[in-house]
Amino acid sequence: MAYDFDLFVIGAGSGGVRAARFAAGFGAKVAVAESRYLGGTCVNVGCVPKKLLVYGAHVADELEQAAGFGWTLEEGHFDWGTLIANKNREIERLNGIYRNLLVNSGVTLLQGHARITGANEVEVDGQRYSAEHILIATGGWPQVPDIPGKELAITSNEAFYLKDLPRRVLVVGGGYIAVEFAGIFQGLGAATTLLYRGDLFLRGFDGSVRTHLKEELEKRGLDLQFNADIQRIDKLDDGSLKATLKDGRELLADCVFYATGRRPMLDDLGLENTGVELDERGFIRVDDQYQTTAPSILAIGDVIGRVQLTPVALAEGMAVARRLFKPEQYRPVDYQNIPTAVFSQPPIGTVGLTEEQALQAGHKVQIFESRFRAMKLTLTDIQEKTLMKLVVDAETDKVLGCHMVGPDAGEIVQGLGVALKAGATKQQFDETIGVHPTAAEEFVTMRTVTR
Ligand code: FAD
Ligand code: NDP
Repeated sequence: MAYDFDLFVIGAGSGGVRAARFAAGFGAKVAVAESRYLGGTCVNVGCVPKKLLVYGAHVADELEQAAGFGWTLEEGHFDWGTLIANKNREIERLNGIYRNLLVNSGVTLLQGHARITGANEVEVDGQRYSAEHILIATGGWPQVPDIPGKELAITSNEAFYLKDLPRRVLVVGGGYIAVEFAGIFQGLGAATTLLYRGDLFLRGFDGSVRTHLKEELEKRGLDLQFNADIQRIDKLDDGSLKATLKDGRELLADCVFYATGRRPMLDDLGLENTGVELDERGFIRVDDQYQTTAPSILAIGDVIGRVQLTPVALAEGMAVARRLFKPEQYRPVDYQNIPTAVFSQPPIGTVGLTEEQALQAGHKVQIFESRFRAMKLTLTDIQEKTLMKLVVDAETDKVLGCHMVGPDAGEIVQGLGVALKAGATKQQFDETIGVHPTAAEEFVTMRTVTR
């Protein structure tokens, strides 16, 4: 049977654009439908605008350090409106680049909401298209717990477009987004409290990293409240918000920001017309090759809920394009040793196993840990400490994990990701010549076993 398209991609985000472009490059006839914004979450309300705001907040650190280097600056003034307008202009530029990338690679771009109407059929704005393969790459959406007053809270989607910087912010959650936005709000001057329901935030990260970041954020004056959860939110007559906690305490704020995880975006997608099944968490169930339980339908990225990171969605998109249209080049995505950064202030960089995971997996581990004050701070009064940690298998000498909290952690850990992928041993780390004077050289000069 002749189809309109070989591949119909739903969602022009990180994964969808990568799959569409490469499939078209391999000679397939491809369409992609996008209902909101080209580039998806990462470009519009995720990685990119977030990093720009993090840079903005970091300027406060640079200004604080300037005096130690002899600079006398006039009283500074920050204007949120300028930062947001400049950020919006950059995002619009990127939207245009994504459009060109798709169109220039021969992909048919359909701007509208796509709904699957049959095993090989998708409807966009009343028009039906047939396709041999359908790829669901619809991403995720912020999830806010169902509490009274939840409509008074905002999520990351709205935070990027706030008219003004709120004076007092309550950030709820203890994952990537909560920690990053707490740093943004506080760095830009808002009195910020982070509320996390458990004993210590960033569950799943290395224990030393979690404790170290907690200490550093507290040094910076961020109000961290653990074992704290909001029961209800009310608006007061003066416009401020009152959050009543489960333990009865009441906190006042101008903005309550929820970052309590993301659900798969399946709204009006028409899955009831397909044999696509969801897993126990509600994400689309796929096999190792991103095949759903419906033979003609695949899914990648945040909507499958494996690892919600842009480079992972890109790798999955590439894998699907190759499997369908260039099978001789197909290689499975390697989910081991994915490097990742949390762009907190200071940031976290991490790759490989945490100490806890290594022990749980039965490794006999040697821990190398170093805490030091970065050279740049020695001419300032700032007492921030950098943490670096290696988790090593005591029997094979293989480095199982590298963890860091400190300036440029994300930049540093990318290279270490290559070393871990290549199976580097601690001896090879030790035999690597350092780059001097840098903080990163500490990763190749830690000689004494801490534990
Ligand atoms: P998305 O990029 O979400 O794209 C899905 C697209 O599908 C969207 O454009 C959506 O509009 C469209 N769509 C949905 N339904 C339909 C439909 N029915 N019809 C047509 N179109 C539809 N990851 C990192 O690696 N580094 C970071 O620093 C980072 N920071 C982040 C910060 C924030 C605040 C957030 C929210 C996320 C961040 N992420 C980061 C995660 C990253 O953004 C996601 O993992 C990535 O965007 C997932 O890509 P995707 O292709 O699965 O989905
Ligand atoms: P995460 O899953 O990382 O964290 C969610 C947080 O909310 C956890 O601390 C969780 O607590 C808490 N939580 C969940 N449900 C509730 C609830 N009902 N009440 C109170 N607290 C709750 O989600 P995020 O929203 O922070 O980010 C989504 C994903 O996006 C990340 O996991 C990451 O993959 C990606 N991302 C990546 C970034 C990067 O690469 N730098 C930056 C931003 C996002 P608990 O731990 O107790 O379950």
